[in-house]
Amino acid sequence: MKNTNSHPDISVIVPIYNEEKNIPVLYKRLKDSVREISASYELLFINDGSKDASIFELMKLTEQDANVRYINFSRNFGHQIAVTAGLNYCQGDAVVIIDGDLQDPPELIPELYAKFKEGFEVVYAKRKKRKGESFFKKVTAKLFYRILKKITTTDIPLDTGDFRLIDKKVVRYLRLMPEQNKFIRGQISWLGFNQTYVLYDRDSRKEGKTGYSVSKMFKFAMDGITGFSDKPLSFVTKLGFFISFLSFLAIIFAIYSHFILQKTITGWTSLIIAVLFIGGIQLISIGIIGAYISRMNKNLLNRPLYIIESSNLKNQQYDH
Ligand code: UDP
Ligand code: MG
Repeated sequence: MKNTNSHPDISVIVPIYNEEKNIPVLYKRLKDSVREISASYELLFINDGSKDASIFELMKLTEQDANVRYINFSRNFGHQIAVTAGLNYCQGDAVVIIDGDLQDPPELIPELYAKFKEGFEVVYAKRKKRKGESFFKKVTAKLFYRILKKITTTDIPLDTGDFRLIDKKVVRYLRLMPEQNKFIRGQISWLGFNQTYVLYDRDSRKEGKTGYSVSKMFKFAMDGITGFSDKPLSFVTKLGFFISFLSFLAIIFAIYSHFILQKTITGWTSLIIAVLFIGGIQLISIGIIGAYISRMNKNLLNRPLYIIESSNLKNQQYDH
C-alpha cells in the first residue's frame, strides 16, 4: 500500500453546498466504493459557503478518517469553482468528480476506474435517465446541450455532467487553464486525450434541495457558450445585415409608393412594431456582446477564483 498522504491511487472531489443530511450516507457509500479499488484514497470535500451544518459534518468525518480532507470557502463561489479548488489540491493518480447529493451513484466509481485501467484518461458518466428533476430543468438542460453542440467546435458530450474520472495528466492541464468563468466539462473535452463513457441512471437528490437556482443555471449556460463558441457574435453580425437589408427594402417600397403610386403609407402600428422589433434585436445583440466583454473583464481583473477560510490540507499553500 502506498503512503496515503502523498499520492493516493484515487482522489474523489465532492463540492458541497447545503448537503448536511447527505454527508453521512455519501461518505459511507463513497468509502465503500473506493475501497473496492484501493485502500489508498482521499476524499476531498469543498464546502462552498453552505448555510447549514455541512462544515461540521465534514469536520466530524476528518476525525474518523485520515483520508478525508476538506476545504472551507469563505462564501459561496459556485459549483464549478468548488470543483476547480478540488482539482487544484487533489493528489491522486485518478481523480473522480462527483456531486454531493447522491444523484451520481458512488457505486459507479469502480466501473469508471476499470475503464481508466484499460488506458482511458477521461471516463465520463453519461446519464440514461434523469430522475426526480423538474420538467423545466430537463427541457432546458436538453435544449442547452443541443444548442451548445451545434455552435461549438469542441465536441462536448451530450447529457453528461461533471461526474467522471480523469487521469492526473488531465488534472495537470486543467490547472494550467486560467479562465475565471469555468465550464469544466467543456475544458476537459477541449483537452482531448482518450475519452470514453459508461452509462448510468441518474438518481434523484436524496435530501435537501438543489443549489442551482435559475440564475446560477443561466450563468453556467452562458459560461459554457462564451467559453467555447464565438458563433453568437457572428450570428449577431449576420442578423444586423439581414435586418438592414429588410429595412432597405422597406425604404425602397415606401419611396416607390409615395412617388409612383401617389400613396403615402400611414400607420402607427407598422411603425411601432418596426421600432420595437429593431429595439429588441439591438438590445439582445448588445447583451450578447456584453457577455463576452464581461468575460474579458473578469479575466483582466484576475482575482483569485476562491478564498479558502480553513482547511485540513497539510503542507500545501493556498496559492490559487
Ligand atoms: N453546489 C455547490 N455550490 C453551489 C451549488 C451547488 O458546490 O453553489 C454543489 C452541490 O452541493 C452538489 C453539486 O454542486 O454537490 C450539484 O448541485 P445541485 O445538486 O444543487 O445541482 P442540480 O443537480 O440540481 O443541477
Ligand atoms: Mg443535484
